[in-house]
Formats: sequence, structure tokens, C-alpha cells
Amino acid sequence: MATGTLTIDLDAICANWRALDRASATSVQTAAVVKADAYGLGAPRVAKALAQAGARNFFVAAAEEGAALRQILGPGPDISVLSGHMPGDTDMIGDLDLVPMLNSLDQITRHLETLPGKPFGIQLDTGMNRLGMEPDDWAAVAGIVLEARPHLLMSHLACSDMPDAALNTQQLDTFRALTDGLGIPRSLSATGGILLGSDYHFDLTRPGIGVYGGQPFANARKVVTLSLPVIQTRMVEPGEYVGYAMGWQATAPTHVATLAAGYADGLSRALSGKATVWAGDTPCPVLGRVSMDMIAADITHLAELPDALDILGPHQGVDDLAAIAGTIGYEVLTSLGPRYARRYSTGATA
Ligand SMILES: *Cc1c(COP(=O)(O)O)cnc(C)c1O
Repeated sequence: MATGTLTIDLDAICANWRALDRASATSVQTAAVVKADAYGLGAPRVAKALAQAGARNFFVAAAEEGAALRQILGPGPDISVLSGHMPGDTDMIGDLDLVPMLNSLDQITRHLETLPGKPFGIQLDTGMNRLGMEPDDWAAVAGIVLEARPHLLMSHLACSDMPDAALNTQQLDTFRALTDGLGIPRSLSATGGILLGSDYHFDLTRPGIGVYGGQPFANARKVVTLSLPVIQTRMVEPGEYVGYAMGWQATAPTHVATLAAGYADGLSRALSGKATVWAGDTPCPVLGRVSMDMIAADITHLAELPDALDILGPHQGVDDLAAIAGTIGYEVLTSLGPRYARRYSTGATA
């Protein structure tokens, strides 16, 4: 038996993508970022659904992800690789028509020498200091690179989920200064940048987390339900403990359910004693420590023995669970483990 059932609502994913697409002008294209197996939700099904919804541009982190995606999507859609053109990736990039976002002089040299005439983009660093060419380096080679007609000039915002941060406008100004008037399509914004407004949209946006129902896209539809089967139940008497390290002690007779997933499945130990699981609309507190493969919950107040309890669903989304664990929705999603049975629903049944 699987440790749980992860239900992924493909209609909600497509609705979120369409809503983010509508947030920019019709002249602006909206890509979909499907790196890290579509944020843990399964790139094959997710990317196919998004392609059907109209997405024509996909971004992945690594060339291997792009190669796998090309098999799924077939020829046609643009598949861009954020890590650029790494040593050893040349054949994959060339054979599968991937578009590397070149990040350095080394990558530019590698690409123009090994795959002349093949498409590429340029990633510029405008202040995040993570990936992309520094303005000085760009200035030194822009003339030569522009002759090779890049597909895209892109950069990435460091704090687009903090609308008041001064760095947003600084990065915008820097991006404009580096790219205005060049006549090459431009892209600056992920989910957060789309929500900052049209100044940030340029020609192509690159949402990820908002498509998957996460903050900062406040109006996103929830995408995932995670239901954990009950392995066993027991009565615990006052004074007895539950779980490792005597993590919880009963003060009254308590009906305890043991659920079949734990931190090995991406449910952080930081949820110990803090998270809630749900029997439909009824909350059940998590008791004591989260184990590797199990979580205990208080079901004393339930009228019927549940087969399973939900840790992600309508009452507790990825950002809620992230807040309890002291992390972000991105990490909750990408940590969802391989032991869950992944089911793909369309909204009506989710
Ligand atoms: C991950 C990533 C995105 C998508 O970001 P979200 O915040 O998930 O929308 C876009 N662009 C780059 C460069 C990224 O690394």
C-alpha cells in the first residue's frame, strides 16, 4: 500500500495558469515553469495538461529535465533550460532542440562553438547575484552575442513576493538599462513579478508556484490533496505517551490513529505536535513527533473511524502547512515523496 494518496487537480493547475496569463496583456506570452518534476507534482501529466491549455513555452532547471520533457511534449513547444549550456549537455541540447539560457562567457563560448546557429537565450544578473551575466561582462560581449540573435534576454527578481522591496525597482531599472532598444524578446518575471504589474511583464512571463496553487498568487485555486491512510488505532490512557521521546502525554482517555506517512515522505519533523490533519471538515491534532513513516493524530472526537485523514486539502493548503513547518510552499511541494500514489483529477471530482 502506498503511504498516501496525492491527488493533483489538473483543472486547477490549468485555471491558475490561465489566470496568470490573463494578468498580463495579450501581447505578453506566458510560459510555464516545470522544473523539479513540475514542483513535485509530476511533469509528464502537468506539462501535457498545460500544453493543452495553450502553454507554448516551458522552463526547466537542467538539460536532463528538458530532454525528458521533449519526449512528453514532442516537437513544437519551446523548452528553455535555466542552468544554460553545461559541459556534457551539448548533444542533448542540440538533438532535442532545447534552448539554453546562457549564464556566463564560458557558456556563450561553448554554445556558439559547439552548436552554431542553434537557439539560445541570455540570462543577465540584475542584482540577485545567483545566476546570469554581470553587466560588465555583458557589455563586453553584447555586440558579438546580439549578432547571433538570442531568442530571449532574461533576468530573475530576488524578492518579487515583497512588493515594497526597493530591490524590485532597482532590478527593473537595471534590466531596462541592459536591454532597452535591442529588439530582442525579454523576460523578467516569475509568479511574483506578474503580480507586481505590467511594467514587469515585458514579452514573456515565467510563472511556477502560482500555477501550482502557491503564494504569492493569493487567488490561486488549490491544487493538491494529500490523504494519509490510517494503519491502526488505539486507546491511550491518561499518563501514557505517544511516539518518540515521549513527545505527547495523554491527560484524558484518547483515541489515537497512526497514519502511514512521515518525514521520509516530505512531512517535516518540524510539524511535530503542531500540524492538523482533517477528517473531511473536522480537524484532528497531530500528536507528538512525526516519525520517518508515521504520524499520530487525535481522533477521539470523531463519530466514525476514518480510513484516511487529509494533511493537505481545502482546509490546509501547501502554504498553511509550510507556515507551520517554518518553510515555504515551494519546499512543501517539492518534498512530497515518491511513495505517494499520485492521482490526477479534473476539478469536478477533486
Ligand atoms: C523557479 C523560477 C521561476 C518560477 O518562479 P515562481 O516563483 O515559482 O513563479 C522563474 N524563473 C526562474 C529563473 C526560476 O528559477
